[in-house]
Amino acid sequence: MSLIRADLDSLPAYVPGRAIPGAIKLASNEVPMPPPPAVLAAIAEAAAGGNRYPDLAVSALTARLAGALDVDADRIAVGCGSVSLCQQLVQITCREPSDEVLFAWRSFEAYPIVTQIGAATAQTVPLTEDFRHDLDAMAAAVTPNTRLIMVCSPNNPTGTAVGRAEFERFLAAMGPDVLVALDEAYHEYVTDPDVVDGLSMVDAHPNLVVLRTFSKAYRLAGLRVGYAVAAADVAQALRKVCSPFSISSVAQAGAIAALEAKDELLASCAEIVGERTRVRDALIAAGYTVPPTQSNFVWVALGAKTADFAAHCLEHKLIVRPFAPEGVRITVSTPEENDLLLAAATAFTG
Ligand SMILES: *Cc1c(COP(=O)(O)O)cnc(C)c1O
Repeated sequence: MSLIRADLDSLPAYVPGRAIPGAIKLASNEVPMPPPPAVLAAIAEAAAGGNRYPDLAVSALTARLAGALDVDADRIAVGCGSVSLCQQLVQITCREPSDEVLFAWRSFEAYPIVTQIGAATAQTVPLTEDFRHDLDAMAAAVTPNTRLIMVCSPNNPTGTAVGRAEFERFLAAMGPDVLVALDEAYHEYVTDPDVVDGLSMVDAHPNLVVLRTFSKAYRLAGLRVGYAVAAADVAQALRKVCSPFSISSVAQAGAIAALEAKDELLASCAEIVGERTRVRDALIAAGYTVPPTQSNFVWVALGAKTADFAAHCLEHKLIVRPFAPEGVRITVSTPEENDLLLAAATAFTG
């Protein structure tokens, strides 16, 4: 016997990255600009009431989201980042170690971690050769024990997105007792009209839950707010297992103000979208394999050269995200920072 669950030994322990003074961070898909002034003001005002507990029910933000998304408030669950909602999804669906969570691989790093914390069993289906979800293979991989399926569109880290028609077929193939989560953390960067938009489908599918976040386009990664939109019973279950008071008053106020600043925030997404085309084209011209991306990052399929490329970028004071031995995920940033990245990539001889 030991004090701690033995299976936690295999979970990655967090290792702080080396601090590199002056380095440019292109590793976490953040927006390089701070929140707009009106959002900062709302955060400061909320901070002044920091001696009080936040609204446990997150009522004001939930009501604003309901209005903005045109869904009933009882179909929304706000979480401490959508990563927390991923963990809550496992909690509301899985109880036995034989219960299975199915997801593509490679996809979002949090999926295997929250599955293991929830003591459920992860089942993975490889991406296609062009770095996309293989929804037919995923549908075929469903077993009587499958409780939850995570679909990430656009996919972190490959940037590829799921088509509306293929996702419709996928949902139609699912039984009513498998919960399908569509993680749309990068939804605001999608420009392809054929890509799935989960909110347009959630009314018709009681087993679909859509995840969105304030961490990316809404520039609040440090405040930790995400939300789920689902059928009322699913949303209620998510709220039940939410860690109490985990959405701080500062986060709630910041998210409301960010919704009010939506036009400005979405306008800067359009700039990133322009830059992602430029960055991808330049990387391809330099000989790299870069799948089409609908997100604010590019995937560079470097295979065995992944670690060397990341080390080379670090020498150029650029922090990218290696997933050895498959590839590197690089956040699209300002034109100046992207130019530095392209210069480093062009100079890489590995
Ligand atoms: C960044 C990201 C999130 C957002 O996580 P938060 O906890 O809301 O910051 C969720 N899903 C994916 C796939 C992401 O890349």
